[in-house]
Amino acid sequence: ATPTALLVGTGRGAQLGILIRGPQILESTRQVDAIVLDKTGTVTTGRMALLGVHVAAGVAADGGLAGTPAGAAAETELLRLAGAAEAGSEHPIGIAIVNGAADQVGILPAATAFTSAQGFGVQATVEGHLVLVGRPRWLADEWQVILPADLAEVLAGIEARGQTAVAVAWDGAARGILAVADEVKPSSAAAVAQLVALGLTPVLLTGDNPTAARAVADQVGISEVFAGVLPAEKVDRVRALQAAGHVVAMVGDGVNDAAALAAADLGIAMGTGTDVAIEASDITLVRADLLAVVDAIRLSRRTLATIK
Ligand code: ADP
Ligand code: MG
Repeated sequence: ATPTALLVGTGRGAQLGILIRGPQILESTRQVDAIVLDKTGTVTTGRMALLGVHVAAGVAADGGLAGTPAGAAAETELLRLAGAAEAGSEHPIGIAIVNGAADQVGILPAATAFTSAQGFGVQATVEGHLVLVGRPRWLADEWQVILPADLAEVLAGIEARGQTAVAVAWDGAARGILAVADEVKPSSAAAVAQLVALGLTPVLLTGDNPTAARAVADQVGISEVFAGVLPAEKVDRVRALQAAGHVVAMVGDGVNDAAALAAADLGIAMGTGTDVAIEASDITLVRADLLAVVDAIRLSRRTLATIK
């Protein structure tokens, strides 16, 4: 039989916007000593904005690549095709590119044959071009699209600012780089400090580049960072912490977090996140706010203290 206190605890949780899958979850919550936090959409708002548009020098100067027009026209072309290719994307980066492109160039052309590669990028056919938008390493490894020197330099500058660089290519050649970024949620730093005060070790986990990850970690006071982690590898990082003797909570929001959320001793999904993440989790937070994680841990400790 379930002790009444646990039921009362889950009921109290619901009042606080902490939806707990079952009363026994409160037990695992209490034992957690390491907390893995997904970056985008969990520590940060996930509301990315398009902050920079950079056309490859060759394209901008002579417009010679596949008849692409020069200068401002080349920039418009880059935004039209990248925005159109991302139209089917649910990823915060894709949404930022669609909105930014539509703001700057108006109505976007239609795309067909859209496919998204989780944690890498998207591909689609737009006006007869096979367009790729994604992680520069993905374009290189999967599509043999190498950035020219000028774009490689642009990319380094974007990452040094703590932003995310997204490469755009079509018909087999790199055409430009887009810079996107979001902001740390106002409560994230306070929440991390309270998690540390409760004796938990916070770890930042992200598919994003190490420089952007470090910038966010510094802003919220996290020292341990796993960056450049592919979606399939997120679960390995959770398992490695468990193998090292930790009882691990994982907090995430994305499709790419689902396996790690399920593998963690305690999976916590942001209520604003994808359904897959919510289904894989033990707890769902109605407020997309890390302070609710602090509340959940305090609640479980208090609830169990009344039982002992
Ligand atoms: P996170 O772990 O921070 O939630 P993801 O694993 O979802 O990040 O994505 C990792 C990286 O893959 C992004 O930083 C970006 O470079 C690339 N990426 C993922 N989805 C897209 C997309 N729709 N468009 C462009 N790039 C993408
Ligand atoms: Mg995320």
